[in-house]
Amino acid sequence: MNALKKIKYSYRSEQKHWVGDGFHVYGLLRPTDDLNKFISPFVMLDYASPKEFSSSKQRRGVGEHPHRGIETVTFAYQGEVEHRDSSGGGGVIKPGDVQWMTAGSGLVHDEYHSDEFSKKGGTFEMVQLWINLPKRNKMTMPKYQEISNQDIPKILLGENTELRVIAGTYKGQKGPSSTFSEINMYDIISKENKKVSLKFKNGSNTVILIMCGELEIENQTFRDKNILIFEQEGNEVAFKVANDFKALILNGDPIDEPIVAHGPFVMNTKEEIYKAFTDYQNGKMGSL
Ligand code: MN
Repeated sequence: MNALKKIKYSYRSEQKHWVGDGFHVYGLLRPTDDLNKFISPFVMLDYASPKEFSSSKQRRGVGEHPHRGIETVTFAYQGEVEHRDSSGGGGVIKPGDVQWMTAGSGLVHDEYHSDEFSKKGGTFEMVQLWINLPKRNKMTMPKYQEISNQDIPKILLGENTELRVIAGTYKGQKGPSSTFSEINMYDIISKENKKVSLKFKNGSNTVILIMCGELEIENQTFRDKNILIFEQEGNEVAFKVANDFKALILNGDPIDEPIVAHGPFVMNTKEEIYKAFTDYQNGKMGSL
């Protein structure tokens, strides 16, 4: 039996803030008490909507900082991001590429516009998502997955509608990313009016970020920078898209464990947060 998942929350953020001097973002998901249950395992999402940067001799971005207890996933849509971390991971993420960094027990990294993009300037668009790690994996070894556009399966849903399977599966097609909990992650780019139906497990959480175009669902139309968060009940999400549409679709089994989030650390208890700060200050998360 198919049952549609209904919208639980929908909102836009009108407020942009700077992350370092390179990422001008809308903070669209945060681990609040209201949202946690319906967005878990996802904890945070920042959307750097398309923005023009002039050419610059200096790279814009965020300097060295730590993470523990999560994975940070960076999706480049326009422009290039360059990354280095203390576990030896690093590289340039180009349009269509995804970088999946498991902070686990802890690392430090920096995130900048690439040299080439900085010199040339241009339009920059990116998403950064934080995924919670289950308690049993919080202190796993740091890991880095570089997922290039060409490794991501692309499925045509219509003549001009493409779905990319970044993680999990879509109709048996597997995405390249390895995950610690069950996650399906797609993006959809469409240049036509199209009905889309996605099947997800009953009880799973589903979040959609609309980056451009229009999405029609439950007799309402939502536009760019809108977040939709769905009820856990139901096994299908169905909507219509139009007008040069682009969205990121996140689905996952909720991690039903306490969350204490502070700055770059997401743990299960306050004591573990204090420990993270001390370990970082004592250099236990490494250096660049
Ligand atoms: Mn970071």
